[in-house]
Amino acid sequence: MSDPRLVRLPLASETAIGARCSLADVLRAPFPSPRGAYLHVPFCRHKCHYCDFYSLVEREGEDRQEAFVARLEEELAAVSERLEPGAVEIETVFIGGGTPTLLRVPLLRRMLRSVRRWLPLAPSGRLEWTVEANPETVDEEVAATLVEGGVNRVSLGAQSFTPRLLRALEREHPIESVGRALAALRGAGISNLNLDLIFAVPGSTLEDWRHDLDAALALAPTHLSAYGLTYEPNTPLAVRRDRGEVAAIEEDLEAAMYEAACGRLATAGYERYEISNWSRPGLACRHNLLYWRNASWLAFGPSASGHLAGLRFKVVPRLGEWLETSGTPALAEWEQLDASGTFGEELMLGLRLVEGIDAAWLESRLARHDDAGSRRRAIAAATADGRLEEVAGRVRLTPRGTLLANTVLEDLV
Ligand code: SF4
Repeated sequence: MSDPRLVRLPLASETAIGARCSLADVLRAPFPSPRGAYLHVPFCRHKCHYCDFYSLVEREGEDRQEAFVARLEEELAAVSERLEPGAVEIETVFIGGGTPTLLRVPLLRRMLRSVRRWLPLAPSGRLEWTVEANPETVDEEVAATLVEGGVNRVSLGAQSFTPRLLRALEREHPIESVGRALAALRGAGISNLNLDLIFAVPGSTLEDWRHDLDAALALAPTHLSAYGLTYEPNTPLAVRRDRGEVAAIEEDLEAAMYEAACGRLATAGYERYEISNWSRPGLACRHNLLYWRNASWLAFGPSASGHLAGLRFKVVPRLGEWLETSGTPALAEWEQLDASGTFGEELMLGLRLVEGIDAAWLESRLARHDDAGSRRRAIAAATADGRLEEVAGRVRLTPRGTLLANTVLEDLV
């Protein structure tokens, strides 16, 4: 539901090793202390044609929600037994999907209780617990269930406030449902609220995008994520584009939309802290910061990706196959990064952040890991042509480099 760059850090090489390999087979107990946990709920009411997250629409008469929650509980219990005794408290939980709020309320309640039961969560004052939701799935009962379960942040997939563009995205919710969902959540006591927006939708104009930004701001979220539409390989949208049925908008217009977001959101008092993420001061998403700072997090549920002390792994993706597994999460892919690979990821992730990376740290790592000098040359080239800069001891993307971020980051990995 949110952008794949947030939750799906790809493995550097895909090592398929079969469903019988579990996290416990790959990682000796006790597992190193994680700082966060991600849980993936795969159910959706409708499959949006641009989406390449693992999610499914159940067929008529099919109902695997209860089986899903039961297996998730088993994963949580099995991992919990293997955590280091006195493990560091988990400070962030993110339940994404799919559409987690499509779970029936008793099952949603049961899943939240199980997270509390099995994971060493920080006390509520220090815990950020986010659930993703589609606007039309949130009512007073769902909002109360989330609060009762300990959730204190919700990320809503608004995407657009222009009916024509919602149809172009194959999104089903009525525009008013976003305001209704926010009111229900605020009424229940959740005030930390993100809206996801998508720009560069086929057929959209700069005026459409300005309207969407203003409509989102009128709802006063604490956080906004704005991503340009991507044509992920093999999605129905990409197939339609390749057939000439849909035209991607011009790159210059997409860049103008991004710049419009930067200007409008800054004027409204939102701080950009990552390429595509803005928040009220102090309310950056702490869970996503774990990803960008290359910290460790657990992963549960089909297709979820995790990272523990240099081990990157992805849980088996298909619900049917996942339901047949037992014990700790069964892995579809995993890779233990070497020191140079870890350094490459730290660069790629850290430079997405507006704060950039510490220049002294960068220099010490380059001296240790960059024998061939390729990364040093890439940094020098990006600095010389104005895509990277060093300011007050931090190396970061310039405004121009932010627009061209992929060209910088790919060279560094
Ligand atoms: S609701 Fe979100 S996760 Fe589900 S298909 Fe649409 S974009 Fe994908």
